Amino acid sequence: MTSLTQVKQYGLYVNGEWETTAEKMEVLNKYTQQPAAEISVATKDDVNKAVASAKEALKNTFSPYERYEVLMKAAELLLSRQEEFAKILATEVGKSIRESRGEVERAATTLQISAEEAKRIHGEGVPVESAQGSESRMAFTVKVPVGVVAAITPFNVPINLVCHKLGPAIAAGNSVVLKPAEVTPICALKLAELMEEAGLPKGRLQVLTGDGAEIGEWLLENQEVNMFTFTGSPRVGELIRSKAGLRKVSLELGNNSATVVHKDADLEKAASLISQKSFNNAGQVCISVQRIYVHTNIYTAFVNKLKEKTEKLVVGNPMDEQTDIGPMIRLKEAERVEEWVKEAVEEGAKIELGGKRDGAFYLPTILTNVNDEMKVCRQEVFGPVVAIAQYDEIDEVISKVNDSDYGLQAGLFTNDLQFAMKAAREIEVGGLIVNDASAYRVDHMPYGGVKKSGNGKEGPKYAIEEMTEERIIVLNL
Ligand code: NAD
Repeated sequence: MTSLTQVKQYGLYVNGEWETTAEKMEVLNKYTQQPAAEISVATKDDVNKAVASAKEALKNTFSPYERYEVLMKAAELLLSRQEEFAKILATEVGKSIRESRGEVERAATTLQISAEEAKRIHGEGVPVESAQGSESRMAFTVKVPVGVVAAITPFNVPINLVCHKLGPAIAAGNSVVLKPAEVTPICALKLAELMEEAGLPKGRLQVLTGDGAEIGEWLLENQEVNMFTFTGSPRVGELIRSKAGLRKVSLELGNNSATVVHKDADLEKAASLISQKSFNNAGQVCISVQRIYVHTNIYTAFVNKLKEKTEKLVVGNPMDEQTDIGPMIRLKEAERVEEWVKEAVEEGAKIELGGKRDGAFYLPTILTNVNDEMKVCRQEVFGPVVAIAQYDEIDEVISKVNDSDYGLQAGLFTNDLQFAMKAAREIEVGGLIVNDASAYRVDHMPYGGVKKSGNGKEGPKYAIEEMTEERIIVLNL
């Protein structure tokens, strides 16, 4: 067993300084279940100090070009340390090393896109002179930073989703108080070191670690925080929305993503993309495919093909190059998924593949004979389980996809343009992906959901809209 003395310790990052606190928390290696690091637990005073530092930093000039340079440099540094960061992700998340490398590369891209956007933030001319009595006036708008942004992030994509908040917030001229997930905070702490090296001025970023509910509550109580940007569960998202009062809130929440495979689809392509995009990170991805609706004509052929592809996925040590799928984030999450599958089977579902747990590992699982009321369909599984159902009619499947509390993204495999365009108009989601699964994302596209999947968009250009205020300047000439 690794002794605590060998485990790296991390402090809080406040006003450009690292501060250790009396109380500590362990971060586990998710594969070995041994301690990987020890982090500081922030107190209410630490939270208030972090917010005050963030506010103070706003007084110093930090021009768009300087923001561009810092973010570009940070992207470059991150890429040069891709392997180091990938190993951290594989350790603290349990994500396969190959997928972890991909996440680090995307995080660097997110910083780069944010840097580019820093130079493009602009208002517009407003023709006030066209109003009667305003003939001698002119007006334009400028985009000003919202101020102090509290960013709260989840465990599953812990560096790219931090960059999706930090990049745009810094690009827009804000200061950030970041609260990463308690089970995966190391990459965010390392990123703070890297941002400092890239030249980020003191106070523009603070990283607070510790208990999410406590820190969240203290941030919400502190009226100097101007905006909350949150990615995580709908339960916590609703809580933040209810306590933030009149302040800006941007919420990226859960989903039980549907993907439709129509009778004219390229089955080989559909099965291949769906098997990749259902089980990545052990299904712990907010747009991971969960509900699959397959046209009756091709149902059996599709189920067989998906089984064939999914059987080939390698489950094991995230550090092994061959591994596709590592453990889930916690033993109790794997136990919960096991319970939900068991319940579905008791209600009539058939396990086509998987359906077994080994400690925190849950095998990639395909269920058929499901109905929409089963937990594995109705709620967010957030694990490596897909549920396949059949449909006959286009209207029927659109209404099945929409029969969900969530609406983040959906996928549709078809070459029928009429169906694709009908779906584009009628499926209630933030994004419809045609001829790919629901889990397609590149980092500069607008990303965010409707219904219980939240509101507000990410993607640096769109997040900057959320993280700035438009101010009008009227000149009486
Ligand atoms: P979570 O809601 O448990 O935690 C998210 C963050 O909130 C963590 O940093 C946690 O410490 C903090 N937190 C916990 N209680 C809090 C409180 N009372 N006040 C303020 N902050 C609090 O979510 P998770 O388990 O880390 O992540 C899984 C969820 O995130 C899933 O529902 C998933 O769909 C969602 N998610 C959504 C997106 C998206 O872009 N829409 C992306 C990734 C994950």
